[in-house]
Amino acid sequence: MGARKATVLLEHYLKQLKLPTVLREYAKLADVCQAERTDYQTFLLRLAEREIQDREVRAAERRLKAAKFPVTKTMDTFDFNAQPSINQMRVRELLRGEYIEQRENVLLIGNSGTGKTHLATALGFAACQQGYRVRFFSATGMVTQLLEHREDRQLERFHKQLERLDLIVLDELGYVPFSKAGAELFFEVISRAYERTSLIVTTNLPFENWIEVMGNERLTGALLDRLTHRIHILEANGESYRLRHSRRRSRKQSHLINQTPSTDQK
Ligand code: ADP
Ligand code: MG
Repeated sequence: MGARKATVLLEHYLKQLKLPTVLREYAKLADVCQAERTDYQTFLLRLAEREIQDREVRAAERRLKAAKFPVTKTMDTFDFNAQPSINQMRVRELLRGEYIEQRENVLLIGNSGTGKTHLATALGFAACQQGYRVRFFSATGMVTQLLEHREDRQLERFHKQLERLDLIVLDELGYVPFSKAGAELFFEVISRAYERTSLIVTTNLPFENWIEVMGNERLTGALLDRLTHRIHILEANGESYRLRHSRRRSRKQSHLINQTPSTDQK
């Protein structure tokens, strides 16, 4: 067989076998291995390793995309010194993802701007990288979707999709009260996730106020019962990060405005 024909065939087979990295790398690596006088087996091993590594990266990218985080926030950019009320050790422990294995939940509770969404997203991001299937919803977005799916008679299908996940993030429970139907549908999500799928819930409301969102004492009790059975609670009761930073900015600005050229030159 001519060399040209062999190359065409090989590349055709590699495509058919869905080995894009092998396809891209084999010729370069063959040259390297030839120069190093590496044996055939090592050449094949190195190629296989590269394909596997790329496959893992691609899968993690797919999981991240499917998670639909509104913004990418990771732990690298979270400043624990700015929010000392957050238990850093607990967060670091949660980052390892064992709570997902144990089907446990996480509740982030605190005022607006204290980094709850940031932390929930960072935990979800870490979970994606560890191979877990994650999906981020705002609590109200979840309820809107539930109502729409019910309208379209697609509710069961949606629940089946949720059941395939390892972790569901429900962000910002408490800002908007649910309608009666919305609260019932939301409860069903929590109930179905119980001991099957981990939940991360962020909220500004202490438990005694959840009834304001759910609108019904019995439903609230049943929801809290399931949600809190196995739960890690992280409290952020510090100052708003946003507020502090805008204050710092405006202080800087007013400082600049108040500065006269003479003081500037001192
Ligand atoms: P919450 O959800 O509690 O209202 P967010 O997580 O949305 O607060 O935080 C508001 C903004 O401040 C975001 O841009 C977030 O990344 C940032 N932020 C909050 N806390 C911290 C922190 N400790 N370190 C770094 N950024 C923070
Ligand atoms: Mg938030």
